[in-house]
Amino acid sequence: MSQHILVVEDEKEIASLLEDYLTTFGYQPTCLHHGNEVIPYVEKHHPDLILLDVMLPGKDGIDICRDIRKFSNVPIIMVTARIEEVDRLLGLELGADDYVCKPFSPREVMARVKSVLRRTQPESTDNSDQLIAGPIRINMATHQVTIHESKLSLTPSEFGLLKAMIEQPERVFSRNDLLNKVQGYDFDGYDRTIDTHIKNLRKKIATALPNQDVIVSVYGVGYQLITPS
Ligand code: CA
Repeated sequence: MSQHILVVEDEKEIASLLEDYLTTFGYQPTCLHHGNEVIPYVEKHHPDLILLDVMLPGKDGIDICRDIRKFSNVPIIMVTARIEEVDRLLGLELGADDYVCKPFSPREVMARVKSVLRRTQPESTDNSDQLIAGPIRINMATHQVTIHESKLSLTPSEFGLLKAMIEQPERVFSRNDLLNKVQGYDFDGYDRTIDTHIKNLRKKIATALPNQDVIVSVYGVGYQLITPS
């Protein structure tokens, strides 16, 4: 069942833009335009996440957020018109899960929605125990790695390395960072070098993605995962 997202936004054009994007991304949106409508709606319909504008006619977003937290832990992303406002909002300790500044790109908002939902409701979707980078999928429950449906057989160290890099795509990891990441997976991580693990991991990935450099060397620093297509 698709997740129900409540959009509280008095600017109708922005509300309908968000509504379109949410629908496209597979969510089920509802828009409210007045602050006083929100609490009764949330009490009755229990949305899965709320995108909450700060400046609203009637009750403002700050009071709404505070009141919702008295009865619900529903994830809330506050939307504010000014970046300077975020510091103030953070200082108020409203219990919101994230903040977005206007003007925003709808894609950025979708990414936040997805990430907040994943963080706050880990059991609620089938994808929550999967790490995904393009065609690469890691099932965290079974430790199974697939690329385009074909299974990769990885050692614990290779698994640990791939998992660490997919969790932070495009980040450049030093060898030392990576060594720390795989310690939990392989006690002999110190004996063999990270370079060997990476070389083997690359070989295995290349069997499924022959024409792409998924893990690249960054000269003088370490390694980086480039999300494959
Ligand atoms: Ca507004």
